[in-house]
Amino acid sequence: MRIADRWFERRVISDEITLLWEPHVVPLMRCNIWHVRGKKRDLMIDTGMGISSLLEAAQDLLDKPVTAVATHTHTDHVGGHHEFSQCLVHRAEAAKLTDPPAGDNTLFLSDFGAKYVEMLQRAGYPCKLDEALITSLPYEGYDIHSFHVKPAPTTFVVDEGDVVDIGNRQFEVLHLPGHSPGSMGLWEQKTGTLFSGDCVYDGPLLDELSDSNIGDYIASMKKLRELPVQIVHAGHDPSFGKERLHELIDAYLKRRDQ
Ligand SMILES: [Zn+2]
Repeated sequence: MRIADRWFERRVISDEITLLWEPHVVPLMRCNIWHVRGKKRDLMIDTGMGISSLLEAAQDLLDKPVTAVATHTHTDHVGGHHEFSQCLVHRAEAAKLTDPPAGDNTLFLSDFGAKYVEMLQRAGYPCKLDEALITSLPYEGYDIHSFHVKPAPTTFVVDEGDVVDIGNRQFEVLHLPGHSPGSMGLWEQKTGTLFSGDCVYDGPLLDELSDSNIGDYIASMKKLRELPVQIVHAGHDPSFGKERLHELIDAYLKRRDQ
């Protein structure tokens, strides 16, 4: 496997929001990492796989205290949390952030089993059983078999309705279970901005993972349909507006006979 020139790419979305991502991670596991600049503190919403240091890669963005938010605790979203001294997670997954499941410690799809990979393929991901989750190595000598999710400090445990205040911006916690029990979004009423995690993104949605619940997912989608959304910055794939959000929700609800 070749060595990557650099592990993270980034795009400035606005004065306050920068998107980072890992181009050498396969699409299934390539999460959006959102840096949100605040007056008092910054947020790093999700942190990627933890294969290479996010803290180092984003050093120039970080000039004040930063809280690493976990929209949920799947490997592709919390791999870098251990680098941050303050981490925020929903109550339902707080224990998983501090004590990641050993089953997540692999970069090979085959370790999840053929049935699981078939489910991902059915959902719409073109992944193969013999595939690795990365397409390049982060540096010379990286041992692809040594991958494991490092425990992170669960500093702030939040619930539905809690407010994450970064000085000039206030985000309300929306509990959006279904993809996983502690999936959550951050919602800023003032600007109609939603960070949706993996509850909704413009790609194949996953509601049959080992910790998913379809009934909860349906309820979360119905809840999101009521929000006066302007822009959704999701856990994967490009951002979108209200019209696309409603298309994605309606397609999901139809697929699940709602
Ligand atoms: Zn996920």
